[in-house]
Amino acid sequence: NEVLIRTEKLNKLFPVKGHKGKTVKAVTDVSLNIYRGRTLGVVGESGSGKSTLGRLILRLIEPTSGECFYGDKNVYSLSRKELNLLREKMQIVFQDPFSSLNPRQKIGSILWEPLVIHNRTSGLNKEKVVGELLNKVGLGEEAANRYPHEFSGGQRQRIAIARALALKPEFVVCDEPVSALDVSIQSQIINLLEELRQKENITYMFIAHGLNVVRHISDYVAVMYLGEVVEYAAVDDLFSSPLHPYTKMLIGAAPEPDPRVQLDFNLIQGEIPSPIDPPPGCRFHTRCRYATEACRQTSPPVKNISEDRWVRCHLYK
Ligand code: SF4
Ligand code: MG
Repeated sequence: NEVLIRTEKLNKLFPVKGHKGKTVKAVTDVSLNIYRGRTLGVVGESGSGKSTLGRLILRLIEPTSGECFYGDKNVYSLSRKELNLLREKMQIVFQDPFSSLNPRQKIGSILWEPLVIHNRTSGLNKEKVVGELLNKVGLGEEAANRYPHEFSGGQRQRIAIARALALKPEFVVCDEPVSALDVSIQSQIINLLEELRQKENITYMFIAHGLNVVRHISDYVAVMYLGEVVEYAAVDDLFSSPLHPYTKMLIGAAPEPDPRVQLDFNLIQGEIPSPIDPPPGCRFHTRCRYATEACRQTSPPVKNISEDRWVRCHLYK
């Protein structure tokens, strides 16, 4: 397993509008590996920091503290020029295929634009490049002369994926790419992404609300809760023996629970607290039936269970 991306104690605080001195702890102390050619699934409820983590890795936003390495390059100490070069290798597919495509631009120019921006058009034929990109995502070449509104949600997401592929990226953040789509379309898009990963040797960070969405596409999974990664494991280990009480809760809430997993349905399914004032100690303690006095006072350290498997919970000493 070759590490493509490594984050070290990444932190991001956002000021809260209208509340002087208050901050949202969007991402706290996230250190993890993303392996080349593999998919890291990132799962958690709204406000858990998944998208912020993706944007930090792409340096679409600056961290409050911490590091991110892409290969041997420190992403946050690159010059403008170096960052532009790296940007060609790192792309993002957004959740909403309706707002992410310019309605006044024809599909052909939407797909050609990244090459124009990065000065990569010389010697290339626009029609040919665009046609190939459309074919890659299962659309016909005639789509090039049409506008986004002429396509369904699933087709638009295919176009957004084609645009992300235009510069032949190594790494793509898929930020809930199927959440806005009909359930019947979701698996088609996930299958397409998986097929492209294999053909083009792409590395994904695949963000989703629920574990069931990432299960079939992920090699590793990071479970996030209120800005922290509370468990990180290979996908099969996570499903066969979830360690963190929150992971157990998520698996219990998935529509197809694995019968081999000993589930604890007594876990409190309460509301997620605000990331503005996360609970002290373990941030999950307000919903955890195992919570002790220690959990309410001290934040659990990361406990390595084995290579590439860790958990943040006082139950594991
Ligand atoms: Fe529950 Fe304590 Fe573990 Fe937090 S540290 S998940 S409160 S047992
Ligand atoms: Mg999000």
